[in-house]
Amino acid sequence: MARQAVTLIGGGLVGALLAQLLATRGFSVTVFEKRSDPRRLRFTRGRTINLAIAERGWHALRTAGLAERALQMSVMMRGRMVHGRDGEASLQRYGLDDNEVIWSISRSGLNALLVDAAEEAGATFHFGQTLTGADIDERRLALTDREDVQREYAACLLIGADGAGSALRAAMDLYQPLGIRVEPLGHGYKELEIPPATGSNRFAIEPHALHIWPRGGYMSIATPNIAGSFNVTLFLPLHGPCPSFDTLRDAATASAFFGREFPDLFPLMPCFAEDFDGHPVGKLATLYLDRWHVDGRAVLVGDAAHAIAPFHGQGMNCGFEDAVALADLLANADHDTAGAFAQFQQVRKPNADAIAAMTLENYVEMRDSVADPHYLAKLELAAQLTQWAPQYFMSRYRLVTFTTLPYAYAYARGCVQDQVLERLLRDFSRPCDVPQDIAISTLQQALPPLQMIGNRVVHHEHAPALPHLAFEF
Ligand code: FAD
Repeated sequence: MARQAVTLIGGGLVGALLAQLLATRGFSVTVFEKRSDPRRLRFTRGRTINLAIAERGWHALRTAGLAERALQMSVMMRGRMVHGRDGEASLQRYGLDDNEVIWSISRSGLNALLVDAAEEAGATFHFGQTLTGADIDERRLALTDREDVQREYAACLLIGADGAGSALRAAMDLYQPLGIRVEPLGHGYKELEIPPATGSNRFAIEPHALHIWPRGGYMSIATPNIAGSFNVTLFLPLHGPCPSFDTLRDAATASAFFGREFPDLFPLMPCFAEDFDGHPVGKLATLYLDRWHVDGRAVLVGDAAHAIAPFHGQGMNCGFEDAVALADLLANADHDTAGAFAQFQQVRKPNADAIAAMTLENYVEMRDSVADPHYLAKLELAAQLTQWAPQYFMSRYRLVTFTTLPYAYAYARGCVQDQVLERLLRDFSRPCDVPQDIAISTLQQALPPLQMIGNRVVHHEHAPALPHLAFEF
């Protein structure tokens, strides 16, 4: 039986992956993308902006049969390399070993791979086509090309993967209010670059780490890419007293600040002035919607439905999970698209809300806590509990990053684990004073065991029950 035709708005990371997954499942997919073909940009742009892929992203890429190709374009990051003001750096591993790492990949390279794969699967892309309006009732789209020529298009099943500023979302909201809420973080970011080093070592600093320079209310991070450069991102408050993007308006003022606050980073960026003055300030916000779909007509995925800040490196990973879930639901919907869209929202929204909350918490952690003694004591005890009772204690970061357990489950379990850490440290002060038997019995009283094979948590599509989560202190 011929499957439905789908009109996808946005051929970015999530849109292109979804196009591939739907086309592979027999749907006839047409994608309208505002930008130019990323495969042409790949060869013309000098700079690369990187993203971190974790297990959820890999799981989706494996589902699409693309993990091997993506891996060849990625650089392993074992942990956070934390750089102090004194220039000292120390690695905080993300996981137990090299099986628990994240990977840095170029956004444009990955996008090009996904578009290639979607086209190979039969999807059709129209680049340079911006959605400027939509009649959701009649399913008619208004599209504008690069020459400002407008045309109408009779859409089919409508999917919006057009990112945080989604035009389809605006049109859906006019037709039926979606309950849109945007919470700005008050912080912004600017992209800078450490170029490859000269000589035998291609990378100017350790390549297999995500570098962080935490400085209280602000920070810089750097991620490697295979060509040897690092993509540096400066996160700062947008407004207020120094330092903020208001006060550091240009490279001349920012140079002195950088030299003082990031003394080991600043000399690695010979194009600092050019980058600082040439690149825009991105604004960070969290987007919440009450509804992600309009009956069976239109649905939103990825950032269009739930944009989050980048502090857990999970926006794309979460969007990739959306893509797999939606493709499977539509493939099994038997033409009940309204039912499939409703189920998609029901399954994915609690998880999107959970990763949004964890992301905001992770921002504070990355910015402030990585050098805080109580935080470091908790990290030390967490490492001890992981060794003593791996089935009962897995840090929330590991649950989010190295498993496919639903985000909402990771959030709930992480809250209880945190309470256990606080309680043990309250009773015994130092991690090395905590007795093993008391630690294990406290964990067993608080939490059910994780299902594991070796060190790995078994893959779950749905949240397992948490029967013992009512842990009182
Ligand atoms: P987008 O990537 O925004 O793609 C939307 C697409 O729609 C674009 O191609 C756009 O051109 C197109 N479009 C927009 N409007 C229209 C229109 N009107 N008509 C037609 N097309 C349109 N996530 C991670 O998982 N790991 C990370 O390490 C990470 N780091 C990040 C760092 C930063 C600084 C930022 C800002 C985000 C980061 N993210 C990360 C989040 C990640 O970038 C997003 O979650 C991801 O790009 C969402 O993909 P998407 O396809 O939903 O949206």
